[in-house]
Amino acid sequence: RSGEKKSPLKVLIAAPRGFCAGVDRAIEIVERSIERYGAPVYVRHEIVHNRYVVEGLREKGAIFVEELDEVPDDAPVVFSAHGVPKSVPAEAERREMIYLDATCPLVSKVHRQAERQIEKGQHIIFIGHQGHPEVIGTMGQVPEGRMTLVETVDDVAKLSFTEEDDLAFLTQTTLSVDDTADVIRALKTRYPQIIAPKAEDICYATSNRQASVKAIAGECQLVLVIGAPNSSNSLRLVEVAERMGATSYLIQRADEIDPAWLENVDTVGVTAGASAPEVLVREVLAKLGEMCDVTEETVRTTEEKMIFKLPRQLTE
Ligand code: SF4
Repeated sequence: RSGEKKSPLKVLIAAPRGFCAGVDRAIEIVERSIERYGAPVYVRHEIVHNRYVVEGLREKGAIFVEELDEVPDDAPVVFSAHGVPKSVPAEAERREMIYLDATCPLVSKVHRQAERQIEKGQHIIFIGHQGHPEVIGTMGQVPEGRMTLVETVDDVAKLSFTEEDDLAFLTQTTLSVDDTADVIRALKTRYPQIIAPKAEDICYATSNRQASVKAIAGECQLVLVIGAPNSSNSLRLVEVAERMGATSYLIQRADEIDPAWLENVDTVGVTAGASAPEVLVREVLAKLGEMCDVTEETVRTTEEKMIFKLPRQLTE
């Protein structure tokens, strides 16, 4: 199509977007483990939900498995950023394995709160998405039957606890800020005695990325969210953009952009989930530049300065 005049396109790029401190740390733990122990280093579950990241680490010598029984006793193993049930490190201890825990410190914080609530004799209502590894990990911090999962306001209506029951609630870190507020409101209405977590469990990165896409989506006809279909926080960004009236697609790579999406569109928003690397954002911007005459503008809603320490095993 050379020679053909490209149509103008304004691209609003949300900031903050992409990698959070927990993802940065998890990837560094795998890289440093490979340097320290030599390849292969096993990783239980995708270290973060991004195929590009996983492939890159595989090339460096990581082997991804779903369960610990797929790892030989004498090979180091890293647990993913989403966290693991207590039974997993316990099993690694029993087998005297070298293991490194890449669980995000903000997920670990929820785990510790869950333990404390159980010690106090409370039953925990956990707001999260069934089947997500973080939910499996957090539910696996407490004895069976002591935590009940709810996803929606409807689920709250179906609970059979009474106003006499000693209840507390916690949430997954990567939920929709707005939907979770509705579920919490329903919980507090039905169970006024319910104990709330000390601070919001939805993490800073999740809420900042939702706020930044909200800031651009109202001006966009189309919002592209770079992220994986199993990435909870990325899926939430699509929902936020759609609620602001934009059409929104979750894409993993630039080649998934359908030129038809750009018909009659003069402003496109671009953002990325917490597990999507910036190179993929650049790739998408380059692709849009090939298709249209692009003017880029970054819209920043806040600065992030969060950094998490690496496990002591890797810094000593
Ligand atoms: Fe941690 Fe939040 Fe990043 Fe998850 S999204 S790894 S909880 S900072």
